[in-house]
Amino acid sequence: MKYALITGGSRGIGRAVCLQLARMGYHVLINYVHNTVEAKKTLDLVREAGGEGEVLMFDVADRQQVSKALEVWEKEHPDQYIEVLVNNAGIRRDNILALMPEGDWSRVLDTTLGGFYNVTQAVLQGMLFHKNGRIVNMASVTGLKGMPGQANYAAAKGGLIAATKSLALEVARKRVTVNAVAPGFIQTDMVEGLDEDSLRRTIPLGRFGTPDEVAALVGFLVSPAAAYITGEVISINGGLYT
Ligand code: NDP
Repeated sequence: MKYALITGGSRGIGRAVCLQLARMGYHVLINYVHNTVEAKKTLDLVREAGGEGEVLMFDVADRQQVSKALEVWEKEHPDQYIEVLVNNAGIRRDNILALMPEGDWSRVLDTTLGGFYNVTQAVLQGMLFHKNGRIVNMASVTGLKGMPGQANYAAAKGGLIAATKSLALEVARKRVTVNAVAPGFIQTDMVEGLDEDSLRRTIPLGRFGTPDEVAALVGFLVSPAAAYITGEVISINGGLYT
């Protein structure tokens, strides 16, 4: 059995990634923080697709919760390791910097950057020991080009891209690849409330992307065909930023 951990697997892009990896034969560990109902729905969909998995609740920003949950999992699976990690959990708390409350600055950074550190460090040892592993970090077009009202989110995603490149260089000799995916506007709960009609006009392909399209890219990056790709940031944004 091959294991893949997807943070933020209960909804949106994370759910689509869980389904994609389950179809590729992985036993998927579906992480979430609040939404037990949606996480279980992801698990049901995985099973309907002929796959298998389990739900794993922890807040990626809380180092103790992460270590505890993954220590328990390791004790229950002494001969196994997590071969694929998709650091996908993320939030946005938009505001112009002049008015941004400190809590909105830190919560976004703690989730994306703290989450990357907490979860990756906990999972990496197994990959290094087995000289095999794939890490995919969910960045954003905002982390590449910036966006007004998103200084916190841009800092977090830009930092995640830089961390991706550094970690890729640290672990390449152990045959662990580390890449980032940078989506533009993708149809999920996260973009609810945005003016889709006017935003669509700014996208050369004329529409928002789907979670399945992002999941297909993640699937490729963890597949044997992508074994020679590491330290890269792959955009998937309908031509919004090239
Ligand atoms: P959603 O808001 O639809 O889903 C977010 C997921 O992250 C949920 O599963 C949620 O769990 C989980 N999550 C949030 N905070 C935590 C936490 N502290 N610990 C564990 N899990 C957490 O988001 P999307 O699917 O749209 O986004 C997924 C990723 O893609 C994010 O990193 C986002 O920044 C990135 N992205 C999205 C874009 C878009 O247009 N949608 C564009 C570019 C990047 P729960 O259900 O329990 O709340």
